[in-house]
Amino acid sequence: GSVLNLYDATRLKSPKINKAESTWEAVDKMVGDALNGMGGAPVYLITSTNNSVTTAQAIAQFTQKYPSTKHIMYDAVSYSGLLDANQSSFGVRAIPAYRFDNAKVIVSIGADFLGTWISPEIFAKQYSKGRKISAKNIAMSKHIQVEGMMSLTGSSADERYTAKPSQYGAVAVSILNALSGGSSTSGLTPSLNAAVTKIASALNANKGNALVVCGSNDANVQTVVNAINNAIGAVGTTLTFATTNNTKKGSDTDMNAFAEALKNGQVGGVMFYDCNPVYDNANGKAIGEKIVGLKLSVSFNDRMDETTQLCKVAAPSNHWLESWGDAEPHTGYTSLMQPTISPLFKTRPWEESLLKWSGDMTEHYDFVKNYWLGKLGGQTAFDTAIQKGIIEPETMAMSSASFSGNVTDATAKITSMKGAAMELVMYEKVGIGRGGVWSNNPWLQELPDPVSKCTWDNYILMSPNTAKANGAEHTDLNEVNRDKKVFEIKTNGATIKLPVLVLPGMHDEVIAIAVGYGRDKGVGKAAADTGVNVYPMVSKDGNGNSSYYANVDMKGLDETYELAITQTHHSFESKRPIIHEFTFEEFKKNPTELYDERKEELEHFTHSFDASEHEGSSEGKEGKEGVVAVVPDPTPAEENWEDAYRKNGTLYPNHESLGMKWGMSIDLNSCVGCGACTIACQAENNVSVVGKKQILMVHDMHWLRIDRYFAGDPSKPDSIQTLFQPMLCQHCDNAPCENVCPVNATNHSSEGINQMAYNRCIGTRYCANNCPYKVRRFNWRDWNEADCFDDNVYQDGRRDDINNDITRMVLNPDVTVRSRGVMEKCTFCVQRLQGAKSTAKKQGRTMKDGEARTACQQSCPTDAIVFGNVNDTESAIYKLRYEEQKERVFHVLEEIHTLPNVNYLSKIRNADVLQSVDPEKMKQEAHKENA
Ligand code: SF4
Ligand code: SF4
Repeated sequence: GSVLNLYDATRLKSPKINKAESTWEAVDKMVGDALNGMGGAPVYLITSTNNSVTTAQAIAQFTQKYPSTKHIMYDAVSYSGLLDANQSSFGVRAIPAYRFDNAKVIVSIGADFLGTWISPEIFAKQYSKGRKISAKNIAMSKHIQVEGMMSLTGSSADERYTAKPSQYGAVAVSILNALSGGSSTSGLTPSLNAAVTKIASALNANKGNALVVCGSNDANVQTVVNAINNAIGAVGTTLTFATTNNTKKGSDTDMNAFAEALKNGQVGGVMFYDCNPVYDNANGKAIGEKIVGLKLSVSFNDRMDETTQLCKVAAPSNHWLESWGDAEPHTGYTSLMQPTISPLFKTRPWEESLLKWSGDMTEHYDFVKNYWLGKLGGQTAFDTAIQKGIIEPETMAMSSASFSGNVTDATAKITSMKGAAMELVMYEKVGIGRGGVWSNNPWLQELPDPVSKCTWDNYILMSPNTAKANGAEHTDLNEVNRDKKVFEIKTNGATIKLPVLVLPGMHDEVIAIAVGYGRDKGVGKAAADTGVNVYPMVSKDGNGNSSYYANVDMKGLDETYELAITQTHHSFESKRPIIHEFTFEEFKKNPTELYDERKEELEHFTHSFDASEHEGSSEGKEGKEGVVAVVPDPTPAEENWEDAYRKNGTLYPNHESLGMKWGMSIDLNSCVGCGACTIACQAENNVSVVGKKQILMVHDMHWLRIDRYFAGDPSKPDSIQTLFQPMLCQHCDNAPCENVCPVNATNHSSEGINQMAYNRCIGTRYCANNCPYKVRRFNWRDWNEADCFDDNVYQDGRRDDINNDITRMVLNPDVTVRSRGVMEKCTFCVQRLQGAKSTAKKQGRTMKDGEARTACQQSCPTDAIVFGNVNDTESAIYKLRYEEQKERVFHVLEEIHTLPNVNYLSKIRNADVLQSVDPEKMKQEAHKENA
């Protein structure tokens, strides 16, 4: 998604002094004079977490020149409590490298580690390794989640228990006690006590193979979690301080000291890089009021955000795609960056600014290069490292560490914590991220939140019971009405108003609101006027760390607000086999049972259809050219039942794909619902943004959507189980869309792709009507030109977004931009397939498996998507479908015989019970309908 940020027309195009356009010479003079006239008064350099060694060196040079400089790292969503706890527990103020892939039991207390917590991409990849189950590898991790809100991670959990944030500490203490046979702390509900017993026994049974993580920023709670991990042998096996995760290093203590110094007039100047405390710090307002009076205030940020607006100097740095650099997100793992494009505007790397101001005129590229030439030993080694992009050890360094945390003290502080009748969780949205860094990115604003499926806003998430008790209307989960009742929330001296979105799985005494909204106009058009800023509700705990949990008062108002939700039907009703889901125990007992059942069902279908009845009909012989009824073979060969199912019992001609036949498999057990694939598809295929008003009219254009289903009793939050199903064009061999198109605009390729000839499309939309998967998207407007994104147009009617010359640079030149009146949908990224084929052809060879990858496949952090040529018996897709995973393969709506070229792998849940579909009932229903 950050590619779109590169071309964001709201980015600063040159430096500014006092908000007026300026030059780098003028900026250098002004800043140099101010620094030299500081008279020893401290200059604070406040940055987001830095893990670049060359950036650290530039900062060191600057500090050497101006010794009164104080460098503070500040994270918009703080991990200070975890860092402080690790300092006192293990003597290292760092986040360890977690190894979810080594854990057979994973327990998370309020940590959304698959969505937003620390490094979700790495964690999702590791986590998925424990979910790739097959008949040959019957092993699976067990994931238990305890949380107040329904998070993306909680949605993937095998077992999930709800607790209020004020209870997280008590849950941790109780688990620690239970590990050694002790009892729970008082105040936990019977269901939480039962959960604690279950968790402790699972952890005890898997010592050395288990991991507990917690999302709280309270150092006391994290100290107890450290004690648990120490007791279960996690240190050195599933987490290690020998390799640290360097993506979060911020210190709330340092930031509080800065705010205090600012208040007391003890600050000479301030510089900000990649951080925006005026917007996202609990002291933001006070910080903003004082910055304006300072002798020197510089922002290196890329736009006139809330902090930059108050600074005298705006010295915009390059976008990362315009930059040289390096990063060491894990100790020993260094990534070298080279720019993909020359700077679009008159920006300058912020490190170069620091160097210049400290008297070093070296250009940033030379600075980075000189460092690495010295480190790697010469030009050749440097070139190789740049080409490879990463320097990494063969295996991750792991080692144990001794625990010395003060558990007694932490426990005493936890047990004295007070909860409230209603508690608020302030969370990061998967798409918008920390401090709203992506809030002016229309792709990410329009990405439906994976769990709530809502676009373009923040809102109050509330359980169905609480909504009902508080008179919030539309508590029916399948309610289509998007008018939501507005509530007023008060805490920590702040009051906000937001609409309520009812979400199953929320604790009845917990509400949740996303941070990162309610941005200033200077941030950009997509960000402005979208949602409300809840950062003023963040408070400080006893250790001075930011707390994202609050006790709140709330009341319903006599107002409603429309939310643009893309999925209005939430529950899974066992009528059709849309999702196959089984427990781990069922699968373990008889892994071939699913295969046998599917075989039986499809054979039943093959036998029950008598095509001779249709032979004389207009749909048959005399229908569309080339369509001839095929008389079913009444006795399909036993070993060839799938072939028989494909060929028999159909009015369609049998599609023979003799060369390539493209196919895709999506593993519902690996997929965590993150939506990265949706954005990858949007970026690759020039999928349009339509704006909130058009989403409300169900005009969203995503070619790949993630359907989210709930199962269980909405009035019992702990019973809710969630399923994610990526849904795209299924490229059916018997495609119901193809035969209704009056102009043959949609048709079948010889490689099994259901393709669209945009020029032929006359917009009747019969195809979308006839598609059982509802994956076709119609351009109701000219989204890329005249009607572009018009719901977010400025008050004065100006448009300066995706149809300006800069932002249009984001469009992929390999893919057509569609216009009004045309139908579109997933093409299997045909441009990539053609590209790979033509490269192979030019080199006089056949294509290798894996050479053509779809954008969604490429971006999936869990490798849930496998794609390739099904006719190649050596391909990953062939092996998966017909050998390694044949027991779990199914097609959506298989019984209607559309013969999709996309298959799914069934969901296997490591839980005692399934709240969703009863397979027996599903089978009966399917048979009934076939009959
Ligand atoms: Fe989009 Fe390509 Fe994936 Fe289809 S295969 S959903 S076009 S990224
Ligand atoms: Fe995320 Fe899509 Fe992969 Fe699922 S398939 S894990 S939603 S990228």
